[in-house]
Amino acid sequence: MSRKAIIIGSGVGGLSAGIRLSKLGFHVTIFEANDFIGGKVNSRTIGSYRFDMGPSVFTEPHLIDELVELCGKPKDFFQYHRLDESCRYFFSDGQQVILKKGEESVSKIFEQEFGEDLDTTKRFLNRMKYNYSAVYPVFIAASLHRFRHWFNRSIWKALVRLPKYGLLSTMNESNVAVFKNPKTVQILNRLATYNGSSPYRTPGMLNIISHLELNEGPAMPLGGMVAISQTLSKLASENGISFKTNEPIISIKHSNGKVVGVESESATYSCDLVVSNMDVHFTYEKLLKGFGAPIKILNQEKSSSAIVFYWGVKRKFNSLGVHNILFAENYQEEFKALFESKTMLSDPTIYIHITSKIEKADAPEGCENWFVMVNAPINIGQDWDKLLTQTRTNILTKISKYLNENIEEYIEVEDYTDPRKIESTYFGKQGSIYGNSSNSAFAAFYRHPNFSKKLKGLYFSGVTVHPGGGIPLALNSAKIVERCVKEDFQIN
Ligand SMILES: Cc1cc2nc3c(=O)[nH]c(=O)nc-3n(C[C@H](O)[C@H](O)[C@H](O)COP(=O)(O)OP(=O)(O)OC[C@H]3O[C@@H](n4cnc5c(N)ncnc54)[C@H](O)[C@@H]3O)c2cc1C
Repeated sequence: MSRKAIIIGSGVGGLSAGIRLSKLGFHVTIFEANDFIGGKVNSRTIGSYRFDMGPSVFTEPHLIDELVELCGKPKDFFQYHRLDESCRYFFSDGQQVILKKGEESVSKIFEQEFGEDLDTTKRFLNRMKYNYSAVYPVFIAASLHRFRHWFNRSIWKALVRLPKYGLLSTMNESNVAVFKNPKTVQILNRLATYNGSSPYRTPGMLNIISHLELNEGPAMPLGGMVAISQTLSKLASENGISFKTNEPIISIKHSNGKVVGVESESATYSCDLVVSNMDVHFTYEKLLKGFGAPIKILNQEKSSSAIVFYWGVKRKFNSLGVHNILFAENYQEEFKALFESKTMLSDPTIYIHITSKIEKADAPEGCENWFVMVNAPINIGQDWDKLLTQTRTNILTKISKYLNENIEEYIEVEDYTDPRKIESTYFGKQGSIYGNSSNSAFAAFYRHPNFSKKLKGLYFSGVTVHPGGGIPLALNSAKIVERCVKEDFQIN
């Protein structure tokens, strides 16, 4: 009889862990509290407009290709566009820059638009490429908490480059030291938000994200971001994984230091191992009550949250692309507000994502589906109704000014999400999107491991554990879980 694995949560980290464990021969069941699969990677249709509700920037699509291949499916089982432009940037002085991907293009654009030295940009992007490839096998694709994972040949490559990572300076300090124009620095600093951190506090090491964003450029799945969770869900079902939606797990059962099953409101299920893909805080707070929680890890500062407006806009705006940023004038103040005073400024940086630029079916003819997001602090009980109304007014004023049109007139359908909703829909502590923030040089070491050191058979995947936030890292967490399970269950 095959061993049983239970996954709690059907986010991309849970789905991919399930697929990997089923390929190891486990009989896998995925429990999901919601009535839909995919966690934050889900989609909604309002009127004639389709919106991705959560993530919009998709890097490292090869991590999905890998799962497709693992399941023996043809490469076109999951299809995506490789975007030529990484993003369009709008500055408060009226300058607009379309940033194409690739070292050559980026260097030329930084030279023409911002007066940066061509070779300096090339050297920077090259350094990020090598930093990324050195760091990846040690800090991203392996457990930091199992000696044998990181103690191999890759560690030497990673250690040799130690002085080049910028561990002792912040991302902003690293960028200011290389580039002379504050606008170039602002573009690079922005990438700290890809895991919900502040560029004025996160280490320069995080600049490796610019390799993915600027050198390789984002991808966009055919059918929108939701195609990621749909693909994983299909792979899971075809591998015999069963789903139990609308069935939140309320407790993890254990005996003699070993996991033996889980309990929902309606039943108890036995198993050989559990992977928790839900927020690690709630795993301890709600499912392992009274069990010694790793307080120091759980008490780390949280990553930011977001306010998103989903607007069906009955007009096309040619100056906008798939990804667009309208920068705040005072970027540093914005991060102080997010992480210190935990409020919203009247001039936030605005991100507009429009899938209908490529996926024509996402909006009616002549219209566009706008996903308009601003970073927000975590929920500590602020007056969100008031902040939401103010933010909506502020961003409508700003976008209207930048595009020279009264945008509100064109909004045909509308919905929104905020830190309260993110918290209650996906059960993420205080609405934080990426678990702990990376606002310190040692943040990576204060993320929860992918396995429990105290309970045999308990594993963790998803953004709140190692290696961190974002779809690619959640997919990597599942790879690490697979490796740990193979070691613990002595599977070749
Ligand atoms: C607005 C927004 C924008 C984002 N933008 C990006 C982006 O551009 N690029 C990017 O890479 N990432 C982005 N992210 C983050 C990205 O969505 C996450 O990194 C990724 O989807 C998280 O996957 P996960 O595996 O951690 O699980 P989650 O998606 O968090 O799913 C966890 C699942 O567990 C379920 N669950 C919780 N408790 C229980 C329980 N007790 N029993 C059963 N089920 C339970 C929840 O219902 C949920 O479905 C964004 C997120 C948001 C909200």
